[in-house]
Amino acid sequence: MFNLILFGPPGSGKGTQSDKLVEKYGLIHLSTGNLLRQEIADKTPLGLEAKSFMDKGQLVPDEVVIGMVDSYFDHHKDTKGFLFDGFPRTVAQAEALDKLLKLKKTEIAAVLALEVSEEELVKRLLNRGKTSGRSDDTNEAVIRKRFAVYSNETTPVAEHYRKARKFQSVKGEGSVDHIFSSVCEAIDKKMRLPRV
Ligand code: ADP
Repeated sequence: MFNLILFGPPGSGKGTQSDKLVEKYGLIHLSTGNLLRQEIADKTPLGLEAKSFMDKGQLVPDEVVIGMVDSYFDHHKDTKGFLFDGFPRTVAQAEALDKLLKLKKTEIAAVLALEVSEEELVKRLLNRGKTSGRSDDTNEAVIRKRFAVYSNETTPVAEHYRKARKFQSVKGEGSVDHIFSSVCEAIDKKMRLPRV
């Protein structure tokens, strides 16, 4: 298996790049944000619990997210690999993911981080809020809260993978296609395959 983590703050373009990456590399897209929004739409108990955190810009508790990822894994056993988007978001989640992958005799190949300035991020999120129907993108206070959570709880995840020599930054500003080709270049180096 070839497992990747797409890392970066809210609004950095993980979802956009993920759609293109899963198509090119045949990976399964595992976005915890999308899975949680689906649970909310289905009005499941997990969704109801998650919604109260998400509406405030807080993280959903680790055990809820880890359990959800675990069960998603079990439903997608025969895959070439996963593209993790928006997960892991805490060091506890990263450690749980490492363990889960080890049990499946695989590991994370690379963590690619999209770098975007905060000014650009707020602009993108408020813009997305106009069309996405996501309530957490329309309120600037909730957006600021998500950045604070990102810097306090998610930034340490970068260090976790830096220590394992798996972390790499990619410039996340410019055209979607240009960013995509930088991301692909980093992946292909890891895969040691010639670029198509
Ligand atoms: P964004 O990165 O733009 O904030 P996401 O769709 O990744 O969007 O996440 C939306 C919300 O879902 C987060 O603010 C958080 O409340 C919740 N969430 C998503 N993934 C996780 C996770 N791995 N751990 C905890 N909470 C999560």
